[in-house]
Amino acid sequence: MKVTVTVIKADIGSIGGHTRPSDELIASVKKFVREAQDSGLIIDSYVGYAGDDIHIVMSHTKGVNNNEIHKMAWDAFSKSVPVAKEQGLYGAGQDLLVDSFSGNVRGMGPGVAEMEFDERPNEAFVVFAADKTEPGAFNYPLFSMFCDIKSNTGLLINPSLAKGVKFTVMDVMKNRVVELETWSQVPEIAAILMYPGRYVVESVKTKTGEPIVSATTDRLHNIKGTYVGKDDPAMIIRLQKTFPATEEACYAFKDAHFVAGNTRGSHHMTLMPVKINTTATTYFCNPLVSALLFSMHNGKLTGPIDGFEGPNWDVVRRRAAEKSEDMRAQGFVHPATLIPEELEYNEGYQEIMNRIENLFKNRG
Ligand code: 13P
Ligand code: MG
Ligand code: MG
Repeated sequence: MKVTVTVIKADIGSIGGHTRPSDELIASVKKFVREAQDSGLIIDSYVGYAGDDIHIVMSHTKGVNNNEIHKMAWDAFSKSVPVAKEQGLYGAGQDLLVDSFSGNVRGMGPGVAEMEFDERPNEAFVVFAADKTEPGAFNYPLFSMFCDIKSNTGLLINPSLAKGVKFTVMDVMKNRVVELETWSQVPEIAAILMYPGRYVVESVKTKTGEPIVSATTDRLHNIKGTYVGKDDPAMIIRLQKTFPATEEACYAFKDAHFVAGNTRGSHHMTLMPVKINTTATTYFCNPLVSALLFSMHNGKLTGPIDGFEGPNWDVVRRRAAEKSEDMRAQGFVHPATLIPEELEYNEGYQEIMNRIENLFKNRG
């Protein structure tokens, strides 16, 4: 049976700042998704949140970029905005950038990750949902997962992974993509993933074209012309057999690497693996990522269970917090802060720089 898994996510408001959506807001989104399920449009669904971002995970048979599926998610979000407004939630409707839906939710604000495949008898996949960061935050773990044998022995032991995979990487500034494959182009993959603010992994497939990874790559500042918000990413990864093992995919997040985002989308801190449905931390909005593990049969979902539960991940969380503290210790000085073009709210900085501009005197 051919099944499509679609994840559509958006920030439509949160309590007391950019923290987490209210229970009432989540209930409203769930209600619309439930209606779609009851009408037979989708087979199954799950609605949850990572920080202030709500994700809708859906299984259906309509294929990718399907108008009805995208419209349903758009409606679930946009028709819930009145609930956020009624409660005075912060950033009500934040990620819905256009007034009305036209055909496909891509480019309208919400992030989309989706893939269609022949369902295996015991289909397993993970949804990584992140907050207070950007899509390029997944570059480092994806390199570890598919290109670094020292991080992932599966690349050596598993015959399918050992053959290599095909990456599709998006240049978010020029809206173009490049296909690169392991093992012949590992230097090219490394070079392009080196700058996550510009180049972002969109998908990974086997050499025979089977989808393994699909990630959200919309970048809000390109959509609206100005930087209006860090487009907190999500990605789907199929697991087990010819794909990464569950523990290989999740383990790729063990380094708590530094990513762009956090407070005002303008700093570098670590990407902390957290439990499912975690509120964004007020510790300067340390970026976070959660791992939702699902099984699927005939499109019916079982799960999610939590990929980042347990004592090992508590140690990683502790290291993530300590590394972030070290970075924060140098305050406003780059690389604690982002370069000017990447600052999400840079009007204040620009005003000061404009004042300084007039004070400059030419040398000789
Ligand atoms: P979000 O992108 O998660 O809404 O956070 C924005 C922000 O500026 C937090 O300080
Ligand atoms: Mg927000
Ligand atoms: Mg967010």
